[in-house]
Amino acid sequence: MGYPLVAIVGRPNVGKSTIFNRVVGDRISIVEDTPGVTRDRIYARGEWLGHEFRLIDTGGIDIDDQPFMRQITEQAEVAIDEADVIVFMVSAQEGLTDADEHVAKILYRADKPVIVAVNKVDNFEMRSEIYDFYALGFGEVYPISGSHGIGLGDLLDEVVKNFPEAEEEVEDDSIRFSFIGRPNVGKSSLVNALLGEDRVIVSPIEGTTRDAVDTKFTTDEGDEFVMVDTAGIRKRGKVYESTEKYSVMRAMRAIDDSNVILMVINAEEGIREQDKHVAGYAHEAGRAIILVVNKWDAIEKDNKTMQEFEDHIRNEFKYLDYAPIVFVSAKTKQRLEKLPALIKQVNENHKKRITSSVLNEVILDAVATTPTPTVHGKRLRIYYGTQVAVQPPTFVVFVNDPELMHFSYQRFLENQIRKAFDFTGTPVHLIIRERK
Ligand code: GDP
Ligand code: GDP
Repeated sequence: MGYPLVAIVGRPNVGKSTIFNRVVGDRISIVEDTPGVTRDRIYARGEWLGHEFRLIDTGGIDIDDQPFMRQITEQAEVAIDEADVIVFMVSAQEGLTDADEHVAKILYRADKPVIVAVNKVDNFEMRSEIYDFYALGFGEVYPISGSHGIGLGDLLDEVVKNFPEAEEEVEDDSIRFSFIGRPNVGKSSLVNALLGEDRVIVSPIEGTTRDAVDTKFTTDEGDEFVMVDTAGIRKRGKVYESTEKYSVMRAMRAIDDSNVILMVINAEEGIREQDKHVAGYAHEAGRAIILVVNKWDAIEKDNKTMQEFEDHIRNEFKYLDYAPIVFVSAKTKQRLEKLPALIKQVNENHKKRITSSVLNEVILDAVATTPTPTVHGKRLRIYYGTQVAVQPPTFVVFVNDPELMHFSYQRFLENQIRKAFDFTGTPVHLIIRERK
């Protein structure tokens, strides 16, 4: 958690998104594809030589209706605010431009490492074009070619070298959670309402390497919670902070840093495309999730309203069928007192361990009541299962031939496991393997 963040900046068309896709592309394709999840590639996880990091393509954060220079200014400022290392991308094909120099001037203000990557150096002859870029004043420049995949290794070596010293991992039982949602759904009101309770003791922890500020609090019951990125929610004002892509990026970052995600939905507006995007990311990242319907005070209700709203949510978020739904009001504080216990419960489910013997009883029972499928006369045999990871609970199931494991049967097995153990709020991953 808390992996370093690398931002790519530069004027349009230098090849930022090409490089972004090269660096993260392979990883994106290995995560499961959840139907109904839209994706855009401005924020993703990457890895180089065992170093995990997060990557943002600031070029994807288009600030509405702003003139060109204003756009790239804001994008460079996002990089300065968010990143641990900045990759400043320019193009050997077009050479040094006024826009590049403009970006450079903004980046001089950053007290973070800036690494100049000269893209479109597709062949050896092009290498003579890179020397002009030393004039930008950031020291060494790195020739790369996004189209040909040349030079990326050296660039990433340099990026990794500039990562801040890893913080000491403090052994900590506190429960890390964050409020996620579109602007105006009521996240800061919920934060304030929760922290304003007399029964919580609040102690802010300043982020050391990043500008995130987490807030620690302890309830009467002695449970310790860390509310992640409270500052990101409270901080206001800059132009880009009101843009949708920026808020999505911020949300994804908070998701990476949390175990439990409180996905806030505005009861007055229902679910929007952006909600699906962010919820899908949390699901694929394997986080525990609670759906919080806020502003419940503001809508007219009869005895069917809650059920109808729940149906609406279940229909829009089919893959989140494990997530509990709570209807709250930050304004009247209705049901807010339930949140800490619920967060604690799903957090426990998220890191729950099941012994192999108990798990295999459940699998045996499942197979006894509902026979395994056959394909072309060949029957699926399930030998045994074992839990291999927590957060989220991940089980490997050994079979004679994984090809025979039909999606619906896998779903059935997952449901049987969910029936036997309380996994409310957490995804459960099943990995089907051939027994050697
Ligand atoms: P962005 O606006 O900075 O994100 O730039 P894009 O990644 O969209 O790339 C802009 C254009 O440059 C596209 O037509 C790419 O195909 C092209 N491009 C990207 N990398 C290279 C490269 O290494 N060499 C060449 N010749 N073209 C490239
Ligand atoms: P954020 O952008 O998600 O942090 O949303 P805010 O907490 O700033 O709230 C946006 C607006 O919704 C503000 O005007 C709040 O007063 C209002 N609001 C927040 N929670 C509630 C609620 O539970 N009920 C009602 N009626 N209004 C709310």
